[in-house]
Amino acid sequence: CPPRDGEVAKAQRAAGDHAPTIFSKILARTVPATVLYEDEKCMAFRDVAPQAPVHFLVIPKQPIPRVSRVGPEDTEVSLLGHLLVVASRTARAEGLHDGYRVVINDGKHGAQSVYHLHLHVLGGRQMGWPPG
Ligand code: 5GP
Repeated sequence: CPPRDGEVAKAQRAAGDHAPTIFSKILARTVPATVLYEDEKCMAFRDVAPQAPVHFLVIPKQPIPRVSRVGPEDTEVSLLGHLLVVASRTARAEGLHDGYRVVINDGKHGAQSVYHLHLHVLGGRQMGWPPG
């Protein structure tokens, strides 16, 4: 994909913003999203601006702003594991049998734009490396 300069600029502006985000509204279902999976700890839904034929996000219901803010408590550590397992199961349900990519953007240099922890799962095409 071409570089998303607009997205990087948006991410850098948002870097200090830890207020409730659009994802809280998606969890509350006051903003619509195509939900692929939900349980008591997390939700998976399609990204509104897909960067691959399949592109969905997995978010915790607990509003942790970014992966670098995950604490050492067992509940938060096991939550991260749960998000990965849900990413993997949902990828399988989406037919990504030839593989996929899981991405977590953190903070300004990671080009994070929404400060509610989320895993991106991208698939359905050949990925390149290194990422932009
Ligand atoms: P980040 O850049 O923070 O890693 O990723 C945020 C992602 O959230 C982006 O891929 C963006 O397209 C997606 N996104 C932002 N707002 C919405 C929304 O209202 N609905 C959905 N489904 N995705 C969103």
